[in-house]
Amino acid sequence: MDISSALSALESLSSSTSTSSSGPLNALIDTHFTNAKSRILAGEDPRVVITELQKNVKNCKKEVEKGLKGWYGALGGVGKEVDKAFPPNLGAISDAYADPPLFAEPEAAEALDKAILESLGRRGIWEAVEAMEDETSLSYSPSKRDLSTQLQYILHSIRSSNLQPALQWCTENSSFLSSPPHPSSLPYHLHRTVFRSIKSQREAIEYAKANMMGYLPNQPVLKLITSCLYQSPLTKIPTNGKFNGGRENGFGKEGEGDEEGESEELQKMFQEEFCRRYQWSKEDPLEVTVELGSRGGTLDRIEKARRVMGEHLGNVRKWDELPMEVPLPPSRRYHSVFVCPVSKEQATDTNPPKMLTCGHVIAEESFNRLLKGGRRTVKCPYCPQETSQSVAQRLYF
Ligand SMILES: [Zn+2]
Repeated sequence: MDISSALSALESLSSSTSTSSSGPLNALIDTHFTNAKSRILAGEDPRVVITELQKNVKNCKKEVEKGLKGWYGALGGVGKEVDKAFPPNLGAISDAYADPPLFAEPEAAEALDKAILESLGRRGIWEAVEAMEDETSLSYSPSKRDLSTQLQYILHSIRSSNLQPALQWCTENSSFLSSPPHPSSLPYHLHRTVFRSIKSQREAIEYAKANMMGYLPNQPVLKLITSCLYQSPLTKIPTNGKFNGGRENGFGKEGEGDEEGESEELQKMFQEEFCRRYQWSKEDPLEVTVELGSRGGTLDRIEKARRVMGEHLGNVRKWDELPMEVPLPPSRRYHSVFVCPVSKEQATDTNPPKMLTCGHVIAEESFNRLLKGGRRTVKCPYCPQETSQSVAQRLYF
């Protein structure tokens, strides 16, 4: 569980009957008390009515207590997650890292300023960029500023359901987007969203014919076009995110989370292609660093190691590498390594990984060892298949 899921667990309790304002307490006041009062006024025996009321109050109390217990549990969950993400003793941590002092060297201070300036510029927060330019000797390059302004404008347009600026950018950069080795599917996805937002079937098909046929055979253009013929304009096809045949669920109309998700997906795709086009890093480096340290749990781990083994490990700032593993999500693993399952050695340029025809991978040296004795083929150490020397493929990680 992370902070956001702990928070949503807490939020979901606010709408549950046992803890909400319309829950047991309300029922007690609105129903039971009013009921008892009118019964007494109507001449019923007060002793009977009061005894019943007492029973009801007791039951309601139990219900309320049950609800509160759940509520405190969820609240505790949020606290725990916050503690996990942000170690509470930041002061002690910063003391531990104070010698040698952080960012005291002019180069280090400048590098930090640069990272912050780049991050602000990339997000288009120009007021802050200008304030930083005033306070430091750095300046944000005007060409980058133009590009970042363009990126923010197009992302904003996508958010407000106007895909034309994004499509125009794609047209202007079509040769870049379509060139190998990574031809982009961004223009197709933009057109697909426009296609689905067109209400008239005939117009939608005309649009697809004019704009989307070029994406065959890599994209399911024909499936998309024909799907609208099978759908009456009034029915809503549930979307599954990947392939949405329901034109009535088209992007850009009032609606449920799907359009929002689709818009977010398009923004992400666009930003990726834009960054690739101008050779910007895919993500904001400062954001990645901060996220790995906080939510990724790295700082927490380092701090734990320092507390537990600090004296044995010496000054944390002098560590060449972390003495423990930090489990990072797959999207944050940048330097994949391959360890040969036979020799247990890490692959290198001179001893690269090789894939056999069965799909198993071993390091080249292990492969050559298995070839010994003038053999032309290698029997896979993991399955019965044989691979001839010339067919084994070098892999790049
Ligand atoms: Zn095999």
